[in-house]
Amino acid sequence: MKIALVGIGKIAVDQHVPAIANSPDWELAATVSRAGTVDGIEAFTDIATMLEARPDITTVSLAIPPVPRFAYAQAAIRAGRHVMLEKPPGATLAEIHALQALAQAQGVTLYTTWHSRMAHAVAPAKAWLAGKTITRAHIIWREDVRKWHPGQDWVFEPGGMGVFDPGINALSILTEILPAPVHLQAAELEFPANRQTPIAARLQFTGNITADFDWRQTGPQTWDIEIDTPDGKVALRMGGNLLEIDGQPAQGENTIMDEYPALYARMADLICQSRSEVDLAPMVHVADAMTLGRRTETEAFDF
Ligand code: NAP
Repeated sequence: MKIALVGIGKIAVDQHVPAIANSPDWELAATVSRAGTVDGIEAFTDIATMLEARPDITTVSLAIPPVPRFAYAQAAIRAGRHVMLEKPPGATLAEIHALQALAQAQGVTLYTTWHSRMAHAVAPAKAWLAGKTITRAHIIWREDVRKWHPGQDWVFEPGGMGVFDPGINALSILTEILPAPVHLQAAELEFPANRQTPIAARLQFTGNITADFDWRQTGPQTWDIEIDTPDGKVALRMGGNLLEIDGQPAQGENTIMDEYPALYARMADLICQSRSEVDLAPMVHVADAMTLGRRTETEAFDF
């Protein structure tokens, strides 16, 4: 199937382009970007022109930041194309509800991807937790924004989500593997004096579940989820890629595909089955943290 990739930025170059190039399902047939291109691929600077010029391209993958994404997704779905959304799927929940209704009306597939759910330890951790009672869980997601988002000011603009841009990856794993849903009860958010989104957040959920997100960690980076049950403990380390049971490394089952190849394989399956997959659970927790969170001002941040 022919696919167009929109937004030739950091994640497109790092992950989407190689995942599509190595996929048996997809052919990268065009790009849309104001500045970026991919060698040998037809490049457009405007989505309306691409949709008009290339009716043979049936799927559009959007790898631009969340705020501008809705207009692109709406244009593609209105033009009868299947659409795949980077995480977080949009700037607001209502946008995604609107896209979901539009995709249904147009009879096309909409896929809200959560790449961290495809990490190697996620499926085996979910299987291990099935039917168990959670007595405590703690997420530590601490990384260096200067290293992972150099100069990307959009993450600190309204709708950019700040530290929830990586934190939502942890929440996408949590909401996938817990045997029963939880909801947010309280949050503390630290906003740099010169920015619109938080640089750190501490969250408290029902079920004795807590999270600590921080974008100021230099040196070793931490992406851990630890979960206790009366039957033992499971931990997912390195962003969901390493599994530990009762403190010992355990072998995951989902060791075949990496995250982005798995997302593109899933998109191909969804289209073949004429289905959409829209899960907003991780984003609901972020929206609730922004609603309930106690805000403090912290030191100004510049890249
Ligand atoms: P990025 O490099 O800052 O931007 C990606 C592309 O978006 C750029 O090519 C830029 O294209 C385009 N863009 C930026 N602002 C735009 C606007 N207002 N209108 C239209 N296009 C615009 O961002 P990124 O890091 O790739 O992140 C993109 C998405 O992927 C985000 O939702 C992020 O959460 C997700 N993601 C990122 C990472 C990561 O490690 N960076 C990992 C996983 C997922 P132009 O060439 O047209 O300027």
